Amino acid sequence: MTHSTDLNLSLFERAKALIPGGVNSPVRAFRAVGGTPRFIARAQGAYMWDANGQRFIDYIGSWGPMILGHGHPAVLEAVQKAALEGFSFGAPTEREVELAEEIIRHVPSMEMIRLVSSGTEAGMSAIRLARGATGRSKIIKFNGCYHGHADSLLVKAGSGLATFGHATSAGVPAEVVQHTLVLEYNDVAQLEEAFALHGKEVACVIMEPIAGNMNFVRASVPFMRRARELCTQHGALLVIDEVMTGFRVGLGSAQGLYAQQIPGFAPDLTVLGKVIGGGMPLAAFGGPRAIMEQLAPLGPVYQAGTLSGNPVATACGLATLREIAKPGFYEQLAARTRALIDGLAGAAQAEGVAFCADSEGGMFGFFLLPQLPQNYPEVLKTDGARFNQLFHGLLERGVYIAPALYEAGFVSAAHTAQDIDATVAAAREVFKMLS
Ligand code: PLP
Repeated sequence: MTHSTDLNLSLFERAKALIPGGVNSPVRAFRAVGGTPRFIARAQGAYMWDANGQRFIDYIGSWGPMILGHGHPAVLEAVQKAALEGFSFGAPTEREVELAEEIIRHVPSMEMIRLVSSGTEAGMSAIRLARGATGRSKIIKFNGCYHGHADSLLVKAGSGLATFGHATSAGVPAEVVQHTLVLEYNDVAQLEEAFALHGKEVACVIMEPIAGNMNFVRASVPFMRRARELCTQHGALLVIDEVMTGFRVGLGSAQGLYAQQIPGFAPDLTVLGKVIGGGMPLAAFGGPRAIMEQLAPLGPVYQAGTLSGNPVATACGLATLREIAKPGFYEQLAARTRALIDGLAGAAQAEGVAFCADSEGGMFGFFLLPQLPQNYPEVLKTDGARFNQLFHGLLERGVYIAPALYEAGFVSAAHTAQDIDATVAAAREVFKMLS
């Protein structure tokens, strides 16, 4: 496409003059994969159209929220109605209560919940609450897990940061992160050692239960079990960051899946975002009453937000949750997602390309590696140049996956069997060039 007719390119030039990197969130800039980011003009169902009018099958789904696909009629209707009633009141509404009820109904480890506007805010507030409730300072996080861009959590935090080759961010004082211990994911011995050394000072362990910021790496059951035991034993809180996995991998979220394998398993605090807002700025954190009542206005831990519990966002989230709670929803979503990764694996095998993949509900990940990684150093063994070739090959063929090999993919209820077949056919053509 020539310069004059490529509207993505001309928009990118305009954007770069005004917005750092031309984007409002780094990974959108295509820095890792190279090329021009697609400026999205509109989306419907499983598809997005860019400024040039090219159609893509969308496996990003706004990085997770769009579990029903774009423009689901029930969600649109709820949002339109809410918008007519008022955009924002800065006062409580019935819908916030309904959304809290709906979330807690499915994720009962949370007796109480607070709504905020982004996953970053939710994670940051959960950490403050864990520190306030325990009176301790240290937190344990895992290499490659991302919990938003709050200072204390920006330490070895996968995806976007890894893309830029930074272990952490400039502008975060060393004193702020001196209380953040970073351990290797799925390493039980390291976790035991950390607790043996610092157990009395640890406020919480925070982890992604399926690390979507390492593409797709599951916490092993023994690792999750031991994390729970060690937290309980040492009086620390286990904070499960389900911003990505919450209502994405199942109605009970990832913690529901672990509870099936670890009797009585529940986190102390849960962090949610993405799907619970259905594509609007909405996130949440929650846990037992005794901990949540430490929050202002009841307790000493301060937390607030002008747009928290926004009426239009809560309408969008509530309509989304009501759709996905319908019988059979996750079975179908999981089967479609599984069909995608099985199809991709078959195509890779046919072309002799090393490939492995995993999925849960509507979330998937694949690696150009012979076997699934267990931690971030193993993820980094992926050949970036080959991934970039795959990314661009798919994009040219109208398939839009995340523009970074550290990011999970998402299938929505709007993706059809034909979409999956078309994706697998496109991938096979690209694999042929890779092999
Ligand atoms: N936690 C996890 C697991 C995430 O994947 C993300 C974002 O991708 C966040 C937290 C931060 O959420 P947000 O981008 O809404 O601030």
